[in-house]
Amino acid sequence: MSSENQDPVKTICPYCGVGCGIEIQQGDEAGDVRFLPWGDAPVNEGRICIKGGAATEVVDHEDRLTDPLIKEDGEFREASWSEALEYVVDELERIRDEHGPDSMGFLASSKVMNEENYLLQKLARRYGTNNVDNCTRMCHASTVWALRTSLGAGAMTNSMRDLRDAADLFWIQGANPGEQHPIANSQYFRQAVLDGATVVQVDPHANKTTRTFGIDDTDRHLHLQLNPGTDIPLLNIVLKTILDYHDENPDEGWIDEEFVEERTEGFEHLRETLEGFDKSAAAAECGVPLEEIERAATKYAAADNAAIFTGMGMSQHACGVDNVQNEINLALITGNLGRPGTGVNPLRGQNNVQGTCDVGAMPNVLPGYQLVDDDAARESVEDVWGFEIPAEPGLTNVELTYEAGDAIRGLYVMGENPVMSEPDANSVAERLADLEFTVVQDIFMTETAEFADVVLPATTWAERGGTVTNTDRRVQRMRGVDKVHENTKHDLEILREIGTRLFDGDAFSFEDPESVFEELRRVCPSYHGMTYDLLGEEGLHWPCYEPGDEGDPFLYEAGFDTENGRGHIEGVDHQPPAETPDDDYPLILTTARLEEHYNTGTMSTRSPTLNRQTPENFVDVHPADADRYGIEDGEYVRLRSRRGEITLEAHVTDDTKEGVVWTTPHFAAASANVLTNHVLDERAKIPEYKAAAAEIEVD
Ligand code: SF4
Repeated sequence: MSSENQDPVKTICPYCGVGCGIEIQQGDEAGDVRFLPWGDAPVNEGRICIKGGAATEVVDHEDRLTDPLIKEDGEFREASWSEALEYVVDELERIRDEHGPDSMGFLASSKVMNEENYLLQKLARRYGTNNVDNCTRMCHASTVWALRTSLGAGAMTNSMRDLRDAADLFWIQGANPGEQHPIANSQYFRQAVLDGATVVQVDPHANKTTRTFGIDDTDRHLHLQLNPGTDIPLLNIVLKTILDYHDENPDEGWIDEEFVEERTEGFEHLRETLEGFDKSAAAAECGVPLEEIERAATKYAAADNAAIFTGMGMSQHACGVDNVQNEINLALITGNLGRPGTGVNPLRGQNNVQGTCDVGAMPNVLPGYQLVDDDAARESVEDVWGFEIPAEPGLTNVELTYEAGDAIRGLYVMGENPVMSEPDANSVAERLADLEFTVVQDIFMTETAEFADVVLPATTWAERGGTVTNTDRRVQRMRGVDKVHENTKHDLEILREIGTRLFDGDAFSFEDPESVFEELRRVCPSYHGMTYDLLGEEGLHWPCYEPGDEGDPFLYEAGFDTENGRGHIEGVDHQPPAETPDDDYPLILTTARLEEHYNTGTMSTRSPTLNRQTPENFVDVHPADADRYGIEDGEYVRLRSRRGEITLEAHVTDDTKEGVVWTTPHFAAASANVLTNHVLDERAKIPEYKAAAAEIEVD
């Protein structure tokens, strides 16, 4: 610990995926870490949102874990590092010997840097299992699946800069950049709108995005306030409108025939899917006037460069892959890909959610999205790692906790909090209690750490270095100040210690983050051209195949990265949510995040600045529903689903639709995930957070 005033270091905000640069500096008091603006930071040029400005507040929080803990007779006691690490290694060996390596699960984290996630997935694979996953599973797994299979890469097709400079229209469906990506919104997208771009927002909830762009106030913009879970029929109306108009008016070029002919496949399948499609019935299903949707279709088709933003309102459904596929269909038939200002662009929620996937912390892929069941890909990584990698894809996040106590006997959790983040949270807690052994490495005693047998205290984002990959594929360096608590360790050090104790050889004897990155770039083709020196302060957008490559701000100029080089079009039909309202649960519950809080609230609810803004959870209730159930604005209500009940304050507002209640997952005392449904998308295994049946009554 140092109380000396050191030079400031340049690093990256630990919250959302925009990747804003900030400076931090050791303060005068021991442990005090100061925030400073980084005036010419490459993404944000010194601007910052409320979360970024408050990020250093939790670095020296009184709740920080400071020493390793071992649970004995149901109580935690302090332990030395050597005792705690030996215990972890002994238990990992015992579980492998008694039940086999596939009885362990490993959870990586998008709050953690590339090097650390790379090391965790390598540890899992050296242990003998592909049971390693990360929280992308809960946010954009379906988006990644659809983009990767239909275009080639599971990432934003474009960059914030080219979207600002070239887009004429933003189609924002199930995303809320005004709240979730405030600097991207204010510094990039809003500038495009000030320069004349149009916004079509498709969202069941009116939010800060609606208000930022004045969408409700002008003829230029549109907000289609659809019912939760009706994104496919809405987009099918858009697609059908464009197809029909083009058939009558081919010279207008609403469909880019040359692009479709030369660069895509599956167009006829889309036509067949929409043959006889009843637009009026679909509009009624969506709860949006048909003419409004047709008007939006006209705006998209007539734009020179139309860009789609997609968010968790699309991905967090049991039909999440198909939701995103329909956005891809729209972009492909109109030729809105492979150019600045276009594309299908998932806005990522955490500062390293993109990188955590890139480095292979997923059960079906190795670093660089190389399929684990592809013999050639596996062998090329094995050549570098020096050990055999299991060929069978492992279990995903929710599957791991669902199997806890049965097929899964132990969990290794780095920086994740499944007791809060997974759907049907009460049942997750019950299952974790059935595990034989759980180890959690984190900075605070999270709701999940309470279930652990060993808790390992890690350093925060502000105390260590490495790299993170932001929402538009820009890989940037993070740098830390001195440790606040001497007896904490960096995640990388902890994994290195466990790896070297568990396994013979030097597969885990890395000196520092840079030496891990050097190995990562050998096995991850899209990072191969990057080094710490080449990243510099600007960073580089992947793919960057050879040193000297400048990286690609937008993808697919020369063709798609699919097997035959074509973009894949595929018509999709409406699939209603697994739970729809009935007599017992007459409302639809949907969930979303707030600007001033972050995921499970582990950091943000400990920040005085953020808590002053919103100290507790609330539920938005439409005035007509408030009348029906006798609810006054500000009154406390019980919100119930088939899985549980929470008590929280009601906000009576027409931000939400009649019949739809809207709340957040950030607060442990009343988390939306007590209520959400654990039904999964069949392919991407993402839960359906966005639609569940619910009832409400005054507390
Ligand atoms: Fe941090 Fe995102 Fe805010 Fe930028 S926009 S300061 S990255 S939370």
